[in-house]
Amino acid sequence: MNRPMRQYDVAVVGGGLVGSSAALALARRGIRVLLIERRYCGAQASGVNYGGVRCQGRAAEQLPLALRARRIWDRLGERIGIDGEFVVSGHLRLARSEADLEGLEAYAQIAAEHGLSLQLMSGTAFRRRYPWLGAAAVGGSLCSSDGHANPRLVSPAFARAAREAGADVRELTALEHAEHDGNRFLLRAGEQTYAVDWLINAAGAWAGTLAERFGDAVPMKPIYPNMWVTEPLPYFLEHNLGVFGGGIYARQVARGNCVIGGGRGHGDGDFARPSSDTTRAVMRDACALLPALRDALLIRTWSGVEGCTPDHNPIIGASRRVPRLLHAFGFSGGGFLLAPGVGEVLADLVIDGATETPLDAFDVNRFSAVPA
Ligand SMILES: Cc1cc2nc3c(=O)[nH]c(=O)nc-3n(C[C@H](O)[C@H](O)[C@H](O)COP(=O)(O)OP(=O)(O)OC[C@H]3O[C@@H](n4cnc5c(N)ncnc54)[C@H](O)[C@@H]3O)c2cc1C
Repeated sequence: MNRPMRQYDVAVVGGGLVGSSAALALARRGIRVLLIERRYCGAQASGVNYGGVRCQGRAAEQLPLALRARRIWDRLGERIGIDGEFVVSGHLRLARSEADLEGLEAYAQIAAEHGLSLQLMSGTAFRRRYPWLGAAAVGGSLCSSDGHANPRLVSPAFARAAREAGADVRELTALEHAEHDGNRFLLRAGEQTYAVDWLINAAGAWAGTLAERFGDAVPMKPIYPNMWVTEPLPYFLEHNLGVFGGGIYARQVARGNCVIGGGRGHGDGDFARPSSDTTRAVMRDACALLPALRDALLIRTWSGVEGCTPDHNPIIGASRRVPRLLHAFGFSGGGFLLAPGVGEVLADLVIDGATETPLDAFDVNRFSAVPA
């Protein structure tokens, strides 16, 4: 028996933090929204990431969106009903050389132009302030408004909040077919067919297939960030920590465990696993910065699948080929902080037809030789 076609204003494909925050923002503004997720909401990159809520270190073109997103993190409880273990710990970006210090200084000027204030430190004052740092760190830049949160709590909570706000959230429901009939999108997912006015492609590392289906091919590749966590240690790591040039990041949770990331694991595009060789190599560098990690037992390692674009900027905004098709994917390892802001931006585009947040750098067509 054929089921009747269901009608919605908007369908969001992908129940990661990006799709769920879009569904929440739309439902809160009275839009009839369907969210389809082929597995469980928040179980992919959005639920397994490092949990960095960090504006510092982002490319200048991401800062307006990052600062908009960051304001939402301050109201997380009101938005999703839990605090998500979000802590405004500050983000300390370390320098390991004079050249790194110069790099931090140059970045601080760019950040200041966007209203992001960073505190540069080096020499004796720096060493006195951070006695727990190893000699490998010669200075740093502190962004006191940055922090970290627990992605396993935050990401599914956005989907739950979307459902409570009225979105039809369907898990274990994969989008199998999508077409545009010149008027609306016709979708098939599971046993059900849908007709929707707007389609939002938030399918994470898998979004390229849907984009290509509508002529918006992008050169995105999967990456598998490598992560691990230590046994609980006496509390010492007061900030979310990064390093100029990347390669190591670390934070300590209230229970004492240090969550550390760096390098890449392995994967097949669909599933990811960590690399012991990478973990060992990055841990050696991490111990030079954080001597307290030297005897720490690692209790778990993992990875996840994320879509990475050639310029490491996401793809956010409208297709130039198909009306009312919006893309939001390719966050290249930096979408956790951004996602709540991306959800609001997508709701602006659907409801207001425009957004005040600059999106030019995230145009889906920027990689194509032939303009749309
Ligand atoms: C290990 C790791 C560490 C990271 N650390 C950080 C960090 O510290 N800070 C930071 O800002 N970012 C970090 N990131 C990046 C961040 O996690 C991602 O940018 C962000 O979660 C992307 O969210 P998303 O919703 O686009 O993707 P996802 O969370 O992957 O969600 C996409 C969803 O789409 C679903 N889907 C795919 N195809 C279909 C289909 N056909 N039908 C229905 N559903 C479909 C998938 O099942 C998935 O649930 C990290 C990523 C990883 C993997």
